[in-house]
Amino acid sequence: MDAPEVEEEEGRRWDPKTLTAVVVGAGPTGALAAHYLAMRGYRVEVYDKGPRPSPGDAASVPLVLTSRGAIAFEELRLEGQRRIGPTATPLRGVWDVVGRRLRPIDSTSAYRRAFVTDRSGLASDVIRAAEERYPDSVRFHFNTELTRAEFKNRVAGVRPSAAADSPSAATEAAAAVTTSDEQEQEVSYDLLVGADGLESTVRRILKAKVKDFGVIRPVEEEADFKAVSRLPRPAAEPLTGFFTHRPQEYVYDWSGPGKPSVRLFIDLDGAPSGVVSGLRRWDDAAAVSEELAAAYPGCFPPEWAAAIGEQVTSPSSGAPRRPAILQCSQFYGPRCVLVGDAAHAVTGASGPVGLGQGPSAAVESIRTLALVLRGAQDDLDKVPEVYSNVRGDAVMAMQMLEFIELTRDPQRAARLKFASWWYAWSAQVTQGFRWLSEAVGGLLSAILPKTFLSAPQVLQRLEDRRIGYSEVIKMLQGYASPVVAVVLGGIFVGLFMAFNRVLA
Ligand SMILES: Cc1cc2nc3c(=O)[nH]c(=O)nc-3n(C[C@H](O)[C@H](O)[C@H](O)COP(=O)(O)OP(=O)(O)OC[C@H]3O[C@@H](n4cnc5c(N)ncnc54)[C@H](O)[C@@H]3O)c2cc1C
Repeated sequence: MDAPEVEEEEGRRWDPKTLTAVVVGAGPTGALAAHYLAMRGYRVEVYDKGPRPSPGDAASVPLVLTSRGAIAFEELRLEGQRRIGPTATPLRGVWDVVGRRLRPIDSTSAYRRAFVTDRSGLASDVIRAAEERYPDSVRFHFNTELTRAEFKNRVAGVRPSAAADSPSAATEAAAAVTTSDEQEQEVSYDLLVGADGLESTVRRILKAKVKDFGVIRPVEEEADFKAVSRLPRPAAEPLTGFFTHRPQEYVYDWSGPGKPSVRLFIDLDGAPSGVVSGLRRWDDAAAVSEELAAAYPGCFPPEWAAAIGEQVTSPSSGAPRRPAILQCSQFYGPRCVLVGDAAHAVTGASGPVGLGQGPSAAVESIRTLALVLRGAQDDLDKVPEVYSNVRGDAVMAMQMLEFIELTRDPQRAARLKFASWWYAWSAQVTQGFRWLSEAVGGLLSAILPKTFLSAPQVLQRLEDRRIGYSEVIKMLQGYASPVVAVVLGGIFVGLFMAFNRVLA
């Protein structure tokens, strides 16, 4: 997709220069949405209930962006992007520190550049760039939350946020409260963009007000997460050669059955940051530190165990969060669209498919929106539904791949909460489906390597941004469906013959 351009056309019914978009959420998705909309000529007001993001803050989690996600930064010409731009270090692999094994990522191909970066650092860079490029048309309002939206009148209600979760944010919020007299403000919009993450308020409003708008969480992880950042330099290397690794070069993973897990990377400032999950308790620094030290004796630096204990028990770290796969029946309402995690969050499953699909898909949704705005010439009565339809297939395929990956490991699957027995059962079926695809694909690729790809080779194609998620799913289905048809056909013929024999 080329970068959208503002078109000057005679007699256009919809002129972006006269339109206002209200974007809810200034995470990576909302910040990028502001760029695309401003580039088309919209006036953009962005509201975020949290403080202005900064690298390594309490809302920072490590994001892996594949080349699929990075494309938006290229077409917006955010070349100076230090975190995922041309000068950033591509991710070379994931270290299983406990087993001392590296799962490498082939970063030699032009299509395989994946980046691990800090969510808040990335969002803050993109926000700053939007403010510098579009000073007259883009405004960011922090510590301000959306509380309601009237679809009929196209009015959103925003007010100083009660949810500011760091002391500095609380001070900023308090300042905002005094200046705004604690009154809710009404903001008129022509397009409402819900980029407000997994616990989206816009989605909640859509669910309450739009007939047939359905939301499910088919699967949720049992383990809670918290971000940790700026861990001190340890006295001893946790891994041979660690002190020579460059920022953003690797992800380091400590995990094991029944143990808390820690996933870190070295951020741009050279400090390890990341997420910790599955701790038994989050309220006692010494207990956290002991749990980590006991879980990974000899391979988890004690300085980090102590720092993580301090960080996760600090009130400014907020409540632990729980990742989930979230599915919406549609991504729109009247003059309203849902993008990013608000529309289609995933769990952050590890493995070749899981790595980076969530944030990269979040970024992709903004590009789809930009494409539809251009294609529909900003006809905002049509854009939301068209966007939702265009996005639907890709999201379904992306989430199915993520689901397959998440439930592949029996130990991990045992720690998932399925919404119903139906989803638990479908996890078994999808694993059977995957096994079939792998077996048939493996056999075919061994016999005719130039014509057929094995299942892992098919999945690797996801790193090629020209290949859609639905194409990958179709290819896997193409391998498994004939076998399923033969098995079902065999069962049918067997039953038929048995029935005939009984009748005879
Ligand atoms: C607990 C957790 C752990 C994760 N770990 C990983 C990981 O390890 N690797 C990975 O690649 N991805 C991970 N992700 C996913 C990743 O954070 C997102 O995919 C990415 O940040 C893009 O999301 P987004 O911009 O759509 O939403 P978010 O980054 O969630 O941003 C949403 C924004 O909306 C704001 N907001 C919410 N409600 C309102 C409201 N009512 N009014 C105004 N503003 C509002 C929030 O303050 C927030 O800034 C994780 C997500 C979560 C929740």
